[in-house]
Formats: sequence, structure tokens, C-alpha cells
Amino acid sequence: MTVVTRFAPSPTGMLHIGGARTALFNYLFARRHGGRFLLRIEDTDKARSTDAATAAILEGMAWLGLEADEPPLMQSTRDARHAEVASEMLFRGTAFKCYATPEELQARRDLGEEKRQAARADNLSDSERAALLGEANALLAPFRSPWRDGAPAPSPDAPFTVRLRAPDEGERIVEDAVQGTVKIQADEIDDLIMLRADGSPTYMLAVVVDDHDMNITHVIRGDDHLRNTFRQVPIYEAMGWPVPQFAHVSMIHGNDGAKLSKRHGALSTLAYREMGYLPEALTAYLLRLGWSHGDQEIFTREEAIAAFDLEGIGKAPARLDLEKLGQINSHFMRLADDDRLLCLLRPILEADSPLDDAELARIERALPHMKDRGTTLAELASAFAFLRVKRPLDLNKNARKALSAEGLDRLAGLRDELRRISQWTADRISETISSYCTTNDLSMGQVGQPLRAALTGGLPAPDIAPVLEWLGQEEALARIDDQLAGAGH
Ligand code: GLU
Repeated sequence: MTVVTRFAPSPTGMLHIGGARTALFNYLFARRHGGRFLLRIEDTDKARSTDAATAAILEGMAWLGLEADEPPLMQSTRDARHAEVASEMLFRGTAFKCYATPEELQARRDLGEEKRQAARADNLSDSERAALLGEANALLAPFRSPWRDGAPAPSPDAPFTVRLRAPDEGERIVEDAVQGTVKIQADEIDDLIMLRADGSPTYMLAVVVDDHDMNITHVIRGDDHLRNTFRQVPIYEAMGWPVPQFAHVSMIHGNDGAKLSKRHGALSTLAYREMGYLPEALTAYLLRLGWSHGDQEIFTREEAIAAFDLEGIGKAPARLDLEKLGQINSHFMRLADDDRLLCLLRPILEADSPLDDAELARIERALPHMKDRGTTLAELASAFAFLRVKRPLDLNKNARKALSAEGLDRLAGLRDELRRISQWTADRISETISSYCTTNDLSMGQVGQPLRAALTGGLPAPDIAPVLEWLGQEEALARIDDQLAGAGH
């Protein structure tokens, strides 16, 4: 058997990270078993589906490297096939024409609610209350149509819906790869509508027909669809089709345990790109969110493909933890190739002003050594600020303090030594600073502080010798001279 999985988003909004995780699990499971991963855009809700949402879903998946093995299937192109299956079920007697009108169904629900209200009155005997509640429950129970057993049409041209004839009685069982054995009673399943009165198919029919026709073997999806599974399985059974293996993955919750909402952090996958996370970091994070494999925390794509299984998916809702995501992101930023990282950083670095050649050269020199300076691309980009500040530098309070008269004297002496360096490397610079300290009986701090202040103006920066190297001899000496000139050196 070739494993075939699918991701089946409804294009009614962005690709949120819960959806991205579902896509990832389906992708990994297919890859793990040398199978196929397919994408189906469930655009049956024509009023709410938009092309923009479809485009955003495709862009999010491409960004995460979760490309499907075939072009996406648009569910709305398959109406005729869905209707054909409904006809076949009518023919087999596993579906029927129902003539209940929406008004009648609404009236039935309203009456049920009224009876439920009436049962709350104080002046009822126990038996009266029980009788009212019984009637209310029957009216509000999953709908079983009076036409399910072939009662005649009220009139020859009466409009009808086509409904599934739901299983009569007994226990219904789904063996879910994540949730285990899940049972409900047959009477909890309604005679669901498969074709509306206008002949259009409902989602519940379309999803089953499409999964069957696409040869889907494993349906991995959010556990908000677990109950739907009990409504969908009878359609497979009615058609004599093999039922796929279901795996219902628990929802992602916020770090406070509440259902995920906007206040827990951005929810759209592409918003994480804007926030400066790498796609491999987001997928590695989403993978561990709800799935585990021993105590390994970070997986590359290859490792994930080799290890992914449905057994490792946890039952409990996972909690979104942005701090953890930041740690994983900084791990992958350290691993990232220099050129790629620079490409990703450039738009952030150039948001306010373009990089000139000198700034670019400095950043290129510094980048390989500074990849660990941040948990997002935006943080990393801001760590380069000291390489880009324009002369003469504005000094912050600490820098001004470090550049006291005494500090400037020491800096003046050091400048003369730095000028003489012919090979401008961090090693040579470091040796020069050390020997200047030794010769003048000064500590590293006494020299390093004014030097750092003059070079960075007080902005955060790594070790001072590499900072000098990255700035280049000319710029470094000019920044020092600016401070000395101001003090009349
Ligand atoms: N279109 C459904 C949704 O976006 C998914 C259905 C499924 O995976 O079976 O929630």
C-alpha cells in the first residue's frame, strides 16, 4: 500500500500555525513512508472562500517547504462527481430524498427550545417535567428524517435534499491513531444532508468522496473534526469504500492553556516570517509541538522524516511557547549559510536606509561571528547597528563617562599604536592593545572601555578586537579621532 496523505484547508482565511502543523505532519508521514502528500483546497463554501486566501495558503506552504506532490485540487471543480455519488447512494438505498423544509426544521428546533424552557417552570410535577424534557430532547436530538424509510413525497414537485440514512442503532467506533478507541451511540449521528435542495454538495459528502478518489490512506487533521468522522464513516460504508486511518491531532493552545487566539501571538504562518523566524525553525518548533521522539528537541527536516510516526503524537493540547520558538530559531540562524542569512537580513537592514558599500562590507565581515546575537532576524539585524552608525557618533551616557579626560589620554596613546598596524586583523589588533596595556601598566578595562565607547558610542557590540577588524582601519581610526579631536588631542 502506498501511503497517501493530504492537507485540506478551507480558503476562508490565512494559513494559521495549527494548519501549518497539520500540513507538516501529513507531509512528514508521507515522506517517511515513501508515499505522496497531496493538497486539496476545500472551497465549497463559495461565499467565504477567496483566491487571496488560497494564494496565502500556497505561499505559506511553499515558505515552509511543504510542497505537495501534485498541483492543488480545487474541491469546487468536483460538484458533478459529488452529486454522482449521492445518486449512487440513493440508488442503493443508503441515502434518501428528504422533503423537510428549512422552515419546518427551524420550527422543530424552536419548539424543542420552548419545551426545554417550559420544563424549568416551578409549578410542575416531576412526571410533567420529565415528559417535557423528553419531548424537548427528541426535538433537539440529531435529526432523523420522517422520509428515511421511503415515505412518499408530499407532492410530485416538492423540493428535496438528499440525506445520508444514518446508522440505525448500536455503538459506533472509530479507532483513531492518536485519540485511541472513540465510541458514540448511533443515535448521536444525524441523517446529514449530502446534496442541498439546489443540488449542490455539502462539505461532509465532498470530503469523503475526494479522500476516496484521491486514494487517501491516512487522514491526519485537527481534532475539531473528530465528531465529523462519525458522520463521514457511514458514507464510506454506504459506498463500500475502504475507510482511511484517521489521526486527530489536538489543538494548539496559548501558553496560559486557553484556546489559541490572537492575543497569544500572531497566528498566521506568514506573520512568523515577518517576525523574523526561519522556516526550518518554525517547522522544527511545530513538529515538537504535539509530537515527541525520545528527548530530542531539535530536528532537521531529514531527521524528522526519518523519525516521524503517529504514535509520537500526544493526546493533550500543546501550548504555544514563543520563548522556545526563539531558542530554536537562534539555533537555526547559527546553522544558516552566510549568504542566505544576509539575503534575509537585507530587507530588514534596509527598511530605513539602504546599505552603502562600506556598511555592507563591514556586515559581511561580522556576520559569520555574530549569528548568535538574537532570537529573530530582526534582533540579529539590530545587533549590527554599531557597524552602521554615522560619524561623529552620538554617545550614550556610559560612553560619555568612559571618555573622561583620563580615558581620552589612554585612547590617544593607543591610537598611535593602532595606526602603525599594517596587517589589520583581530589578532594583530589584540596583540597591539595588550602590549600597549603592558607597556603603560594599564588594565584591559582602562583601555578597552574608552576604546569601545569611541567605536560604538555605547551600542552593544561583541569583543573589541574583531569589532575593530570589521570596521576597517580607516573607519576605526576615524571614530577614535572624532573623540580625540573633540577633546583637543
Ligand atoms: N477543510 C477542513 C478545515 O479546513 C479540513 C477538513 C479535513 O481535513 O478533513 O477545517
